[in-house]
Amino acid sequence: MRTKENSLIRYKDGNLYCELADIWIDPNKPVKRALITHAHFDHFAFGCEEYLSTIETAILLKERVGNNINIKTFDYGEEFKINGTNISFYPAGHILGSSQIRFIFAEEKWLISGDFKLQEDRTCKKYEIVKTDYLISECTFGLPIFKWDETKKIAFDISKWITNSPEKTSLLFCYSLGKAQRLLNEISQTNFKGNIYSHGSIYKMNNCYRALGIDIKDTIKIENKKKIDEFKGSLILLPPSLSKGPYLKNLKNFQTAFASGWMSLRALRKRSGYDKGFAISDHADWDGILEVIKKSEAKNVLFHHGDSEALSKYLTEMKSINVLLFEK
Ligand SMILES: [Zn+2]
Ligand SMILES: [Zn+2]
Repeated sequence: MRTKENSLIRYKDGNLYCELADIWIDPNKPVKRALITHAHFDHFAFGCEEYLSTIETAILLKERVGNNINIKTFDYGEEFKINGTNISFYPAGHILGSSQIRFIFAEEKWLISGDFKLQEDRTCKKYEIVKTDYLISECTFGLPIFKWDETKKIAFDISKWITNSPEKTSLLFCYSLGKAQRLLNEISQTNFKGNIYSHGSIYKMNNCYRALGIDIKDTIKIENKKKIDEFKGSLILLPPSLSKGPYLKNLKNFQTAFASGWMSLRALRKRSGYDKGFAISDHADWDGILEVIKKSEAKNVLFHHGDSEALSKYLTEMKSINVLLFEK
């Protein structure tokens, strides 16, 4: 079944768009008005006239792109009206400030999940169950093979990985915003008591989180990459973009790992070029996606951001839920 051309939320030029409110959601191009679910760059485009987001997302975005953006902020749960459409943000549990966005027009409810997860994460608000008629869910990890281990176990594995190689420097690659802070928070609960260093891009986000009241372990900012070899027994957090290229060229005696949901796939782990992979994700796994769909009580579900074939098949067989496809 396809969405109607006049449905409250639809696809336009490859983006989610609400015609009634003339507002775009996480657009990948400059538009007049953009709702931003969270501060990851794949959900943000420069050059929009006006942005609307939660307070935390606005602070993180400004830290990343500068103060020169026109951004209006709202509390979670605060309803505002544009051209008769009620809009509000709810916690998505993905990273600090991340949100689902709900639209209500003439008693019809639409919910855009944004990137979300249900797993425990002390660095952001927990995913809030929101009831809706139509749910647009992300499905980055929408296959039954994706089933996350407890975060505590992953943190313990990371700690063991570092302490088992006291002669080496342990380089853990992870996204600068969200994943790095969650890892720091988790690692501080483990037995690893050595030094932790952060790349500048991560260090900046750590400070931002701390200023927003999140418990993040103090790390040392890496100023001079040439000294990196002196850090044996320590943990260094680096963004994935530095895993290839000249950054590691001068290093000796180190081990590398990547922290990502994709590392749960053996084939990807092998091909990744890292010594080790830790399967920890800020997205929902298969069960998480299904749980949200069920608890939202949505009768109609649409997917974006990922491969939805398996989910669509599964839900269609359950028959009580319509899986709709966007009219593109
Ligand atoms: Zn994200
Ligand atoms: Zn994303």
